[in-house]
Amino acid sequence: MDALDERRIQATAREILAATRAHEPSRISSERWQGEILEWAMADERLKVEMLRFVDVFPTLRARGEINRHLREYFSRQGVAAPRLLRWGIDLTGPRSPVAPLAAAVIRRQLKGFAQRFIVGRDARAAVPVLKALRDSGTGFTLDVLGEATVSEAEARAYQKVYLDLLDGLATRAAAWPPVPVVDESAWGPLPRVNLSLKVTSLYSQIDPVDFVGSVAAVKDRLRPIFRKGIATGAALTLDLEQFRYRDLTYSVFTSLLDEDEFRAYDHAGVVLQAYLRDADRDLEELLWWADARGRAIDLRLVKGAYWDYETVLAAQEGWPVPVFTHKADTDAMYERLTRTMLEHPQRLRPAFASHNARSLAVAIETARGLGLPDNAFEVQMLHGMGEPLKAAIRARGLRLREYAPVGELIPGMAYLVRRLLENTADDSFLRQTFAEGAAVDELIRPPRPTPDLGVPVVRLPSIAPTDADAPAPFANHPPADFARRENREAYDAALAAVRGRLGAHYPLRIGGRDTATARSLSSVNPAVPGEVLGTAASGGRTEAEAAVAAARTALPGWRDAGPRERSAVLFRAAELMRAEAMELAALMTLEAGKTRREASADVDEAVDFLEYYGREMLRLGATRRLGSVPGEDNTYFYEPRGVALVIAPWNFPLAILTGMTSAALVAGNPVIVKPAGPTPLVAAQMVRLLETAGAPPGTLNYLPGPGAEVGDFLVRHPGIDLIAFTGSLDVGRRIIAQAAQHPAAEGIKKVIAEMGGKNAVIVDADADLDVAVAEVVASAFHYAGQKCSAASRVIVLEPAHESFVRRLVEATRSLVVGPPEDPATRVGPVISAEARERIEGYIAQGKLEATLAAAVEPPAGGWPGGGFYVGPHVFVDVAPGAVIAQEEIFGPVLAVLRAADLDEALAVANGVRYALTGGFMSRSPAAIERVRRDFRVGNLYINRGITGALVDRQPFGGFKMSGVGSKAGGPDYLLQFLEPRAVTENTMRRGFAPSGELLTD
Ligand SMILES: Cc1cc2nc3c(=O)[nH]c(=O)nc-3n(C[C@H](O)[C@H](O)[C@H](O)COP(=O)(O)OP(=O)(O)OC[C@H]3O[C@@H](n4cnc5c(N)ncnc54)[C@H](O)[C@@H]3O)c2cc1C
Repeated sequence: MDALDERRIQATAREILAATRAHEPSRISSERWQGEILEWAMADERLKVEMLRFVDVFPTLRARGEINRHLREYFSRQGVAAPRLLRWGIDLTGPRSPVAPLAAAVIRRQLKGFAQRFIVGRDARAAVPVLKALRDSGTGFTLDVLGEATVSEAEARAYQKVYLDLLDGLATRAAAWPPVPVVDESAWGPLPRVNLSLKVTSLYSQIDPVDFVGSVAAVKDRLRPIFRKGIATGAALTLDLEQFRYRDLTYSVFTSLLDEDEFRAYDHAGVVLQAYLRDADRDLEELLWWADARGRAIDLRLVKGAYWDYETVLAAQEGWPVPVFTHKADTDAMYERLTRTMLEHPQRLRPAFASHNARSLAVAIETARGLGLPDNAFEVQMLHGMGEPLKAAIRARGLRLREYAPVGELIPGMAYLVRRLLENTADDSFLRQTFAEGAAVDELIRPPRPTPDLGVPVVRLPSIAPTDADAPAPFANHPPADFARRENREAYDAALAAVRGRLGAHYPLRIGGRDTATARSLSSVNPAVPGEVLGTAASGGRTEAEAAVAAARTALPGWRDAGPRERSAVLFRAAELMRAEAMELAALMTLEAGKTRREASADVDEAVDFLEYYGREMLRLGATRRLGSVPGEDNTYFYEPRGVALVIAPWNFPLAILTGMTSAALVAGNPVIVKPAGPTPLVAAQMVRLLETAGAPPGTLNYLPGPGAEVGDFLVRHPGIDLIAFTGSLDVGRRIIAQAAQHPAAEGIKKVIAEMGGKNAVIVDADADLDVAVAEVVASAFHYAGQKCSAASRVIVLEPAHESFVRRLVEATRSLVVGPPEDPATRVGPVISAEARERIEGYIAQGKLEATLAAAVEPPAGGWPGGGFYVGPHVFVDVAPGAVIAQEEIFGPVLAVLRAADLDEALAVANGVRYALTGGFMSRSPAAIERVRRDFRVGNLYINRGITGALVDRQPFGGFKMSGVGSKAGGPDYLLQFLEPRAVTENTMRRGFAPSGELLTD
């Protein structure tokens, strides 16, 4: 960009701003209320949060008392600086205020009015007068359909119908509108009067980049009729861009649909480019390349991006590289760069610049001029209801302006509003700076000063450095594989093929570091295709168990004395090996345990986390501590291992839980005998191999699959076992505890750590966000076919939310794809075995006797594929709290829905089971959340999210009551259970002389 251009840009930006400021100096909007609310939000961050939350919950508050209660809960909290007017409103709504009902009505009316400013109407009919008025003022529109998140196929079909109805409803009316040349004509010819923006996520409820091909196909199936109608009615259609995870998917939908014969000649299809993405220029390059090949132009809307907060928070939570720039100047610079490239290709692109930033728009205007393009070779787009002075300034320059105009109901309208408020009250927002803060014009229009970050290439697969036992970095969870990235999907597919190529191997026992053959063996089968034997493992008996105990006892002194550093180093090396093989381990788990790729991959991540976490924990606990500081006395406190550990692992987290229990025992200095679960010996053999390769000395890790009733019981009673770590069912857990008590170890009472079952409930409050509640309950109840001890098996819904929650839950359940876990479309795979299926089916039969079956995913005609052990998800409603299906752990995809009149009843029902493992609460009431934190007595309580997927360190996991004995896995107390604390006191005074404390060393 030369200096002359830059001068022109600044001059134009200055003119636009001057026109804007002349129009209205101090308000974002002409409406006083709107300006007032935004100004409050901008004045105080805490107040802004409360305001956004109140606006978000507001549409679900039906009763007046509820509005008043929430208003008080949000704005009377400590630290919230509510402005005087608002405080006055809160007082008026107080329980003793005589005008409380009236005040609530006023608030409702005002807020509705506020939201409606951003919406053109609830449907085509209501929108027509507003759209007509817009055109009369010289402004075009693109309609955006507001709605709830699509959680079911019924909802996706409903969206499709709304799009089709809009096109139908507007086509004839629009034809009768008088022409408005500035809106209807462009450099490339006449433009459609009706213009619709669509979101791919609204059209397919199971959309997920993990199933890239299937999602693209499903969205296209729903889009085809819309595109046909678009062509028939002469409308323009643009696919919005949403969160980064859908970016590639959206482009793929767009390009492959338009490559189909019937759409090849369609001239008014458009898509969006987000400048805040670090690789936005590559997106543009690929679109240009494709448009070249297609030989027809497309509409391309350049935006900065509406999900900045979401993307940065998500990346931080998942440990992923941030896909967006983190400096606003970089986004602005990228926007300007892309503006130029877009304008340089008028044969391929019909550019729209969507922005409320005078500088960004001035760059577009002046670049177009510099390239000799007419003013109508591009258009400016802005949001309906916002930045009116700016729009007037753009129109006054004779430029084409189009508004992004939402249609829909108030409830989704509020969510939209929250997003817009968030965007426009952000510190860096141009609108905020221009209108509210009155920033100096020179500051606003100067070129963005990009940071060096602008040039940094996108990191796709960050490599994780091995942990140095002498200087470990702080613990961080292993980032989950991001299946929105193609390389991860391909890596998984390749791993699956590689694992399949190696199937059929036999795994002998490992005792004392040596392979041990047995006469018996057990077969590992694929639960999705029970005829498929994946491999075999030796099956030990008493003789081998005896040998394993002997080997472990022989290894004990050396391993105990090896010290924390050396033992931790083994775990860190194992973690490194596991990371290197992560995809193959996940693929093996898909085959052996029936886990979908995301679930399997998360299982490996958790195993890695345990290794890294317990390794660090041992280093922390392993340091000798000095206690007290009394002269003449030296007190030390340190830990030593308890002895030989028996690890009895479950099949549902065949790597994570097994690795967690084994590594904790091992790093604490206890040699281990691993008895893996019957269905998953192959995954267990991999863990043993990795730990041995990492340096676990012979005898410290013994692999002993075998029949539970024989080997398990024998070892539990064996005097050579000092410690038992068990995860599994309540019945087996109780038996182990009883036997261990009756059969002490040679050196004392056996320590038992037992993680057992759960009957976990999610309470859905009257004001819950049902978009979140339904999606999270479905995932918590049905992913991995409900075979997690943390799974949701009860939902307790407060009366006012019951009907809509159940309606959406039932449809969402019916939309789940049940099938082979290898298939990326599958959300629910098989259960682990024929016996498990039988047991679950027994509970389903019981449910039919004691409640109403509301949804069941039935097998397809011809039965489930591969003859797998499938049980379709089932939802029962009107379940009584005492019913069998509301009390017993089912460990399958069966969900009981219960009603509660109020929170007291909901809590009584939730706590009214013998388990206390996980629980959930969906609510937007601060007071109710506070209450539930205290009174919902479970080991792991999750608020406004799913109740499975605890992460090491962040959500230490474990329950009480009948859910377990012992402290939480992945937490700071866990390792202590594997250790014996010792205290040594030495009197250091000799003949009246005591050395000073500093002279005492370890
Ligand atoms: C007609 C129209 C259609 C739209 N369609 C879409 C769409 O399909 N998809 C979509 O995602 N958005 C869409 N948007 C929203 C658009 O992305 C935002 O309105 C826009 O980002 C606001 O930018 P601005 O230029 O008006 O304001 P500015 O204040 O100049 O820019 C604000 C933007 O800068 C970015 N940003 C803020 N802070 C930082 C930071 N620290 N580091 C890096 N970047 C930062 C964010 O993108 C933020 O939204 C649309 C907007 C309009 C007007």
